Amino acid sequence: MDITSMQKIGYGIYVLTANDNGDKNGCIINTLMQVTSTPAAAVIAVNKQNKTCGMIERSGKFGISVLTEETPFDVIKRFGFASGRDTDKLSGADFIETSPSGLAYLTKYSCARMEFTVKSIADCGTHILFTADMTDGETLSDVPAASYSYYHKHIKPKPQPKKGWVCKICGYIYEGDELPEDFICPWCKHSAADFERVEL
Ligand code: FE
Repeated sequence: MDITSMQKIGYGIYVLTANDNGDKNGCIINTLMQVTSTPAAAVIAVNKQNKTCGMIERSGKFGISVLTEETPFDVIKRFGFASGRDTDKLSGADFIETSPSGLAYLTKYSCARMEFTVKSIADCGTHILFTADMTDGETLSDVPAASYSYYHKHIKPKPQPKKGWVCKICGYIYEGDELPEDFICPWCKHSAADFERVEL
């Protein structure tokens, strides 16, 4: 079995929010799909380790903001690379608002927001599967929704290749963009002329 074949499955990328008795939080998920249109219902899978997961189990409600292709990586970082247990992910940003029902959503970088009421919960080991009916929805912009692969290709920063210079005589590597003209190889004592550029 080639487990990596599953990486070919397409997903979107979303901010998932919850409000547990006034405690508000959010995280990033890629696992959301509509299951029926009548009633409008969806299913999400949430990692049990996420604070948001327990909040949804207790409150029975969640909000979704559909992230667009214009979402900067900082927004993903805010919701996806920090824990609501030690940071308040929802404050200090002018693009986060709270709906009348108390669920946070993104006014910018999101082309639609929705709210759901949980109708069934399934334990899937590492994740909880919530099936839920839609209770509110609003289209916010015409900017295309980002697919999960678009996020990986265009939003997530690529590791920068490190630049350097290698001594052709002995193999010594100088790390840095520019090799000083008067540089002398510390190993073989040859000059900068015997160095060539490399990507490390
Ligand atoms: Fe050298």
